[in-house]
Amino acid sequence: MARYHGSVCKLCRREKIKLFLKGERCFSPKCPIERQASVSGERGEVRERLSEYGIQLREKQRARLMSGILEKQFRKYFKTAERKKGLPGENLLRLLELRLDNIVFRLGFASSRNQARQLVRHRHVRVNGRCVNIPSYQVKIGDRISLDEKSKQLEIVKAAQEKAKERGFPAWMEFDPSTNAGRILELPKREEISIPVQEQLIVELYSK
Ligand code: SF4
Repeated sequence: MARYHGSVCKLCRREKIKLFLKGERCFSPKCPIERQASVSGERGEVRERLSEYGIQLREKQRARLMSGILEKQFRKYFKTAERKKGLPGENLLRLLELRLDNIVFRLGFASSRNQARQLVRHRHVRVNGRCVNIPSYQVKIGDRISLDEKSKQLEIVKAAQEKAKERGFPAWMEFDPSTNAGRILELPKREEISIPVQEQLIVELYSK
């Protein structure tokens, strides 16, 4: 399947949740999902009937679109998650959460995962002092994630960091403002993972 190049807000409207694909606009009242919620709250919500398969498929799509990855890659993550100890659904979400592009987004170096992916690809990001340009790189406990000295001066980075500081950081990572770097302290617990889906539905979908 080719990468999607249409309006990303359309994807959120179709999935009926905020997928956070458009940077700062996603956190503002200008977000079409926010506006839609206030309008449908006034009118009374119209519920769409879906089959069991449809519900499972939608849940998978939400996790996949939010992470910005293609179907084939998503399936590979599921296979890896199944092989690991623990619950496959939780393992899957943890693998997605620990992708380098997601970490760059969570540390506030970028205002969306898409922008974070660009920063990684264009060699702005360092892991333990070494340049890593692979967005899917799995970050580990103890890893130190920082930006190249010149990249810290980019306007998009500065703007994203201002907003991120207001929103705060997850407890499983720390951010040191004096060095502008983050460190992974522990693996994220399920409730700390920023992908709001029912992972069991994805497990059921792929177990058919
Ligand atoms: Fe658009 Fe972001 Fe709102 Fe989704 S969450 S509808 S991408 S502004």
